[in-house]
Amino acid sequence: MPECWAVTLASQHLIIDADDTLWEDSSYFEQSIEEFITFLNHPALSRAQVRSILDEIELANSGLHPFGSRAFARNLGECYRRLAKAPIHPEDLARATELGSRLLHQPRRIIQGVPETLHHLAPRHNLILFTKGHPVEQSLKIRTSGLAIFFRHVEITRAKNPSAYDSLSTRLGLDRARTWMIGNAPRSDVNPALAAGLNAVYIPHAHTWRLENEEISQGPGRLIVLEKFGELAQHF
Ligand SMILES: [Mg+2]
Repeated sequence: MPECWAVTLASQHLIIDADDTLWEDSSYFEQSIEEFITFLNHPALSRAQVRSILDEIELANSGLHPFGSRAFARNLGECYRRLAKAPIHPEDLARATELGSRLLHQPRRIIQGVPETLHHLAPRHNLILFTKGHPVEQSLKIRTSGLAIFFRHVEITRAKNPSAYDSLSTRLGLDRARTWMIGNAPRSDVNPALAAGLNAVYIPHAHTWRLENEEISQGPGRLIVLEKFGELAQHF
């Protein structure tokens, strides 16, 4: 067993991501994107080419609005206006954006093993839910998940960068050597947490949003890579 896996059972601070860590999320966006590309039915561009133009739009707008179905709907509308054959009919534009806005009320499926693992972790450690996105939308997802009872602190943030982790750790008085960030996204969970001097658990998800993927970087903290959320119970 590598040295970095040697975790003691003493109480620690576990900061846990939500989307695609506790419940499925990106797969609903992926489904909408597939339906959008089919609906657009572009005469010259391949599906992959349409997708990469949508990715460009999402990247360009990612700093402007909090991540969520509303921003996604706006991006689908922008993509539709850019690529659909003129004249663009308002009802077609509305149908394109509805593929995004419908996700606000889309029930999220809880990832297998999550409730029982949180039940195991909650009495042993200080659990903190830390999720990025639109405050109203993320609150709705947290409430409907029924998982908030396991967390001592819940926070919805606009961005998950090193300064966000720095600020969270300082405000909550967390000892960084005994604090772990647990999540599926290298860009939002693992790398900025390591950069802020925390430890990290990376649990890759098959549908992680493309813009959230990047190489895992090294930090002074420890890094554990797990296949499933349920494996946390063996380490904490
Ligand atoms: Mg996530």
